[in-house]
Amino acid sequence: MKTHNHKNNNPKTKVGMKTCFVCKTISPRNQMLRFVGGAGEIVQFDAKEVLPGRGMWLHADESCLERAIEKRLFQRVAKGVVTIPGDLMDVVKKAIQNHPEKQKLFFQRSNS
Ligand SMILES: [Zn+2]
Repeated sequence: MKTHNHKNNNPKTKVGMKTCFVCKTISPRNQMLRFVGGAGEIVQFDAKEVLPGRGMWLHADESCLERAIEKRLFQRVAKGVVTIPGDLMDVVKKAIQNHPEKQKLFFQRSNS
């Protein structure tokens, strides 16, 4: 007798886990920031997580973002040369003002 598994019933799958491409730690999606931008493109912060393209996820954490910018780690994920806007840090800091929880994380974690 065969039974079919229904994969959609697991509530845990609703909260996606994402790997930060800077520190390689896995965290719930709601603690992460999404960026998009493939090879040859400009890296964009996707505050609403709606932009098309392959997402690049890193922690809502000032130190992770700083490392990503300074070491141009976006290029590793994009597998090519990308343009990192000079004001990316400011753009993120401004945009997450609309996301109090992420904003809290962003400035809290940076002390560690
Ligand atoms: Zn991280």
